[in-house]
Amino acid sequence: MFNNKLSKILGSDRLKKNVPLAPHTTFGIGGSAQLFYKAKTSKELIKAIKAAHKLKIPYFILGGGSNILVADRGLAGLVVKVQSSKFKVQSYKIFAEAGVPLTKLVEIAQEHSLSGLECCIGIPGTVGGAVAGNAGAKNQWINQCIKSVTILDKSGKIINLKKDDCQFGYRSSCLRDNSSKIILKAIFELKRENPKIIKEKTNKFLEARSNQPKEKSAGSIFKNPANDSAGRLIDAAGLKGKRVGEAQISPQHANFIINLGRAKAKDVLALIKLAQGRVREKFGVELELEIQLIGFN
Ligand SMILES: Cc1cc2nc3c(=O)[nH]c(=O)nc-3n(C[C@H](O)[C@H](O)[C@H](O)COP(=O)(O)OP(=O)(O)OC[C@H]3O[C@@H](n4cnc5c(N)ncnc54)[C@H](O)[C@@H]3O)c2cc1C
Repeated sequence: MFNNKLSKILGSDRLKKNVPLAPHTTFGIGGSAQLFYKAKTSKELIKAIKAAHKLKIPYFILGGGSNILVADRGLAGLVVKVQSSKFKVQSYKIFAEAGVPLTKLVEIAQEHSLSGLECCIGIPGTVGGAVAGNAGAKNQWINQCIKSVTILDKSGKIINLKKDDCQFGYRSSCLRDNSSKIILKAIFELKRENPKIIKEKTNKFLEARSNQPKEKSAGSIFKNPANDSAGRLIDAAGLKGKRVGEAQISPQHANFIINLGRAKAKDVLALIKLAQGRVREKFGVELELEIQLIGFN
């Protein structure tokens, strides 16, 4: 069995079987991973991916689980949770491994009077997830201060990509297909700034965030269509507060679906389909998912 071979490589005490994924997501939803491994260093991350390739085991890279909906039936194959968390500050640059929490990265920048990451304040997840999805807020994105990204490619090579090679777009990059390019670390190039000004900028982003729902969610479900907002369209379609099971379109912000307690992925999916259908019917607009559906057909 591939499990035995994999546990020889990764360690039988470290490779876990049938691990519920719900606690590893901000939605608190999802079935179990057939195999689960926490990569605590970049070396362990590389080892796990190379082993999965060698043994032809399908795998999924999990950061903070804050931008995904995992299917109720769970995931076959291996889930690698990235927890590599080294970082280094050199002059106006920060080198951060993929598993560094994004909130920590913002904190480090503030401590060193470095500006450029203020838009990431309050965004959950890891550096890897944020870089892959080009996280940001209010038309400011993390890619604006990325200098380069080090990845592990399909053939097992470690490659340094310049910012322009990453094809960053609105919540997208060529690094977000979750199997062919694994982010190991990134270098952020920031600007020295007066701490008072950094604090002011940060507070503006925090303020904008203060009206977001506090319940379990995965943040914005849909991307905003050009010159409009997904939340406004869903609200205008009469769906604010709509419930399926214990999933609900937030009464506070219609682009958030919240887990009221024991929501199932199928409930969230039903609300996603309902919102897409109603908005298409009423306004002729196709809502595109911002979150990723994992383990569905
Ligand atoms: C309350 C709330 C508010 C939010 N607000 C915002 C916001 O303002 N702006 C915003 O942009 N997002 C927001 N989000 C969404 C989410 O936090 C971000 O998209 C975050 O950057 C995802 O990071 P993660 O580590 O949780 O990724 P995950 O959800 O774990 O993974 C997302 C994708 O990235 C891939 N990935 C993760 N790590 C790596 C890696 N090392 N290499 C390659 N691929 C990788 C995964 O395979 C997956 O495809 C919010 C979420 C919540 C819950």
